Amino acid sequence: MSGFSFEISKSDSGSDARAGVLTTPHGTVNTPAFIPVGTKATVKSVLPESMRELGAQAILSNAYHLYLQPGPEILDSAGGLSTFMNWNGPTFTDSGGFQVLSLGVGFKKVLAMDETTFRDDDVIAENKERLAHVDDDGVTFKSHLDGSMHRFTPEFSMQVQHQIGADIMFAFDECTTLHNTRSYQEIALERTRLWAIRCLDEHQRLTQARSSKPYQALFGVIQGAQYEDLRRQAASTMGAMESSGITFDGFGIGGALNKSELGRIIGWVNDELPREKPKHLLGIGAPEDLFVGVEAGMDTFDCVLASRIARTSAVYTMEGRYNLTNTAYRTDFSPIDEECDCYTCTSYTRAYLNHLFRGKEILAATLATIHNERFIVRLVDQMRAAIINGDFAELKEEFLGRYKHRSTHAN
Ligand SMILES: [Zn+2]
Repeated sequence: MSGFSFEISKSDSGSDARAGVLTTPHGTVNTPAFIPVGTKATVKSVLPESMRELGAQAILSNAYHLYLQPGPEILDSAGGLSTFMNWNGPTFTDSGGFQVLSLGVGFKKVLAMDETTFRDDDVIAENKERLAHVDDDGVTFKSHLDGSMHRFTPEFSMQVQHQIGADIMFAFDECTTLHNTRSYQEIALERTRLWAIRCLDEHQRLTQARSSKPYQALFGVIQGAQYEDLRRQAASTMGAMESSGITFDGFGIGGALNKSELGRIIGWVNDELPREKPKHLLGIGAPEDLFVGVEAGMDTFDCVLASRIARTSAVYTMEGRYNLTNTAYRTDFSPIDEECDCYTCTSYTRAYLNHLFRGKEILAATLATIHNERFIVRLVDQMRAAIINGDFAELKEEFLGRYKHRSTHAN
C-alpha cells in the first residue's frame, strides 16, 4: 500500500472544475487547494502552527534551495521535510529544474511564471556565455549563494527529492521561456520526455531501495510553452508514459504561461491527461488566475506571490489589492479586510500595520503574510465549496466583478 491516492468527489456541470481528496502518508488535502510556498522549509516569517491555523493543508518547498542548504542528507536524517520543519502535514517539493535555470544563473528573482518573468532566451540561450548550461544529460549551474558549480540530472533530482522526503515530488524538466524559438521548444520538450522516463526509473529504484520510508508520489511535468500541438503532445505522452512498471501519480503544468492564454493552455493539457489523476498548476497564485485554473480542471496550486507581496506591504481584499503603507491608513482603525477571518484581521488594524511597515518592524511581515495566505487559501476553499454546491460559476462572477472593479482603481 502506497498511502497515496486521489478521489474526485464532485465535478462541476458547467466547467472542468472538480472537488476531490488527495491522500498522502502525512495527511489529506481537500482539493482544489492552494499550497503555500515554504521555499527553504519555512513560510517566511510565519510559524507552522499559524499556517495550519489559517487553513493551509500542505506546504511546497524547493529542492534546489534545500539541496544547497542545509543539504538533502540533513533532511533525510531528520525524518524528512515535514518533521524537520515541524509542519507534520503533507508536503510537496518541486524538482529544482526551474530554479536551476533561473536562480542558478543569478540574474533575477522570479515573481511568477508568466510572460513578464522571463525576458529573451538568456536563461538557456545557445552559443552565449551563461552560468547554467543545459545538455541532454542534465544541467550544470552556479550556486546563487556562493558561486560554486553544481550539476542536476534527472537521477540526481530524484535522489535529492527522495532524501528531502516530501509526499509529492515533481519530475526534473527543462523549463523554457515564451521567447525561445519554436525549434528550441521542440528540442527541450523531447529532452524533458527522455528525462521523465529516467525520473520514473530512478524513482522506482529509490522507492524499492528505501521501502521503510513513507511512499513519495511522483508527478510528471507538462511543458510546451504557448504551442497547442506541443502542449497536447507533451500531455498525451506523459499521461500514458510507463517505465520500470510504473506511471506518474499525477501531473504538474509548468513553464512560461502567458496570462491571457492561461485557460486555453491548461484546457489543451487537461484534455489529454488522464482525468482521474491529480493535476497541479506550478507557480500560479493570483486570485483571478486561480479561478481560471480551477475552472480548467486543476486540483492544486502553489505560488510565492501571496507571501512575497505581503512583505512589501501589499495585501489582498475582496475588493482588490492595496498597499498598507499608504498615508490614508495611518489613522484607519479597521482591519485589512472586513470580511476576512484571519488572526491579523480579527486582532489588528490598518493603522497598526501601517505603523509597523513604516517602522520596518519584522512583525509587519508576519501579520501581512498571515492575512494574504489566509485570503488565497480561503478563496480556493470557497471555490471547492461552490463546486460541491453547484454554484462555482456564480462565485466566479461575483468575485471577479468585485475584485477587478477595485483593482482597476486602487492597485
Ligand atoms: Zn485577514
